Amino acid sequence: MRKQIVAGNWKMNNDYVASEQLVSKLLEQYTESETEVIIAPPFTSLFCSSNLLKSSRINVAAQNMHYAENGAYTGEISSGMLKSIGVDTVILGHSERRAYFNETDALLAKKVDAALKNNMRIIFCFGEELLDRKSGNEEVIVEGQIKNALFHLPASAWTNIVLAYEPVWAIGTGETASPEQAQHMHAFIRKTIENKYSSDLSADVSILYGGSVKPANAKEIFSKEDVDGGLIGGAALDVTQFTAIINAF
Ligand code: PEP
Repeated sequence: MRKQIVAGNWKMNNDYVASEQLVSKLLEQYTESETEVIIAPPFTSLFCSSNLLKSSRINVAAQNMHYAENGAYTGEISSGMLKSIGVDTVILGHSERRAYFNETDALLAKKVDAALKNNMRIIFCFGEELLDRKSGNEEVIVEGQIKNALFHLPASAWTNIVLAYEPVWAIGTGETASPEQAQHMHAFIRKTIENKYSSDLSADVSILYGGSVKPANAKEIFSKEDVDGGLIGGAALDVTQFTAIINAF
């Protein structure tokens, strides 16, 4: 059975002190439920966050990693380094990594393999740009992103994959895909996976929606059949908003 997940991507926000404060506040306001909660602080705050959350049910994810295990890759972090501080989930393929750091499907496939080799869980992000949607190409783009980075995987690997559909035009813009647009795309994604693997496998994959999810729209988006939760950017930096989104389930 697939899981309901709400994950907060802090991006390049919150230094060490601010992160400790935010996590402490989250612990105060959070009430345990069926929904899995994940936060993804910047690298410098991963260790303190995972320590503070050790005895809670909130999990910690990294926002990125390199595909190599170690070596001459100045400024990079490997999956083994993340695991050594208790972080076993990583976000890969975020549109900001694709756009500002030229992360291609081929590079992401290497990162996916490296993460899985080290038994990490991946929140794999993808989504079309505004022009793609305007020209009616959103399904072709999304299908390509999933195929190119994930379809070389054996079925067994999918227990460690969570998908996050994030239309680029809805990220940080205040513009959200309508619940119907989200459901339509999520159903398409599930069908794409079913066609490649099986209906049992695709029914078990959690597909999150991301793009300007706020307390005001979370409930309606999460009520859609194929939407299993959200990847939250801006609203994850405000504990009251983030907990309201979690409670929208
Ligand atoms: C994101 O960056 O993954 C995101 C969904 O951001 P926001 O919620 O701010 O649109």
